[in-house]
Amino acid sequence: MVFRSGRTRGTRRRRGGFRWQILLLFALGAGAYYFMNQKQVPYVCDGRYTEYAPDMCRKQLRTMALDKEKKLGLQSYVQILQDEQSRNPRAIVQGGQNYEAVQKIGADIARAAQEEAAELDFDWQFNLVQSEQANAFALPGGYTAVYTGLLPIAQNEDGLAVVMGHEVAHALARHGAERMAQQNIQKIVGAGVSLGTGGMDFGAQRAIMGVFGGVSQYGFALPFSRKHESEADFIGLILVARACYDPREAPKLWDRMGQAGGAKPPEFQSTHPAPETRVQNFQKWMPMAINIYNQNCPDKIRQ
Ligand SMILES: [Zn+2]
Repeated sequence: MVFRSGRTRGTRRRRGGFRWQILLLFALGAGAYYFMNQKQVPYVCDGRYTEYAPDMCRKQLRTMALDKEKKLGLQSYVQILQDEQSRNPRAIVQGGQNYEAVQKIGADIARAAQEEAAELDFDWQFNLVQSEQANAFALPGGYTAVYTGLLPIAQNEDGLAVVMGHEVAHALARHGAERMAQQNIQKIVGAGVSLGTGGMDFGAQRAIMGVFGGVSQYGFALPFSRKHESEADFIGLILVARACYDPREAPKLWDRMGQAGGAKPPEFQSTHPAPETRVQNFQKWMPMAINIYNQNCPDKIRQ
């Protein structure tokens, strides 16, 4: 109502214009929210690794309490596993060679992450799900699942460790909580845009909201999701090497994953960095990974 009072003082606004003051107000609110909630991302600013990847160090926007994040992670995990079980009563694999491999690799990755995960106090769980999907995920809290459809692409323990390391890295880096906070920013600015168009005709409102939707998706959400993928590749590679799996399998695994995309691409591929960027990244980070491996593991890799 503040803006309307201007009319009576003779600064009559043209009907149907965009009310920039409202957008500005909301943008300032979003900016304050953004700058007041910056948190350090684990691993990426660690002096042991930054010389190999100086461009990876960053802070992230995060507001959700860790307990709530883990609780949501567990809820989704239980829900997903129940859904799988209602589809196929034997969907949760209980034994056998592949099951043992997932348990062993999971335990090794969890141990490798111990240093940073201790304060997160993850309640690690690793399940193998009988399904044709070439998929795997790790939810906040360390609730991890591998689908049997992924195994032919993983091919060996090193490959499986690369995928599981990548998924666990998303959880350790709190990417889910960051995405939720980013959605809040989009909502705040979106509300400002929406209110700003309040006096405009319907067609113009829709056009402006459409442009906002595009900008916020392609200029904000997608670049961040590619950033998350590269970050999970980086942290995952550190975990794989610490856990004494061969980090040199990483570029090969993602290459196989890309090939296997086919009609129904795995979850990983929806928002990924270009394959060439990925290969270049792994080339850049591999000396680091081999160093970590050689410091931690009895049999050495020669470069
Ligand atoms: Zn990912």
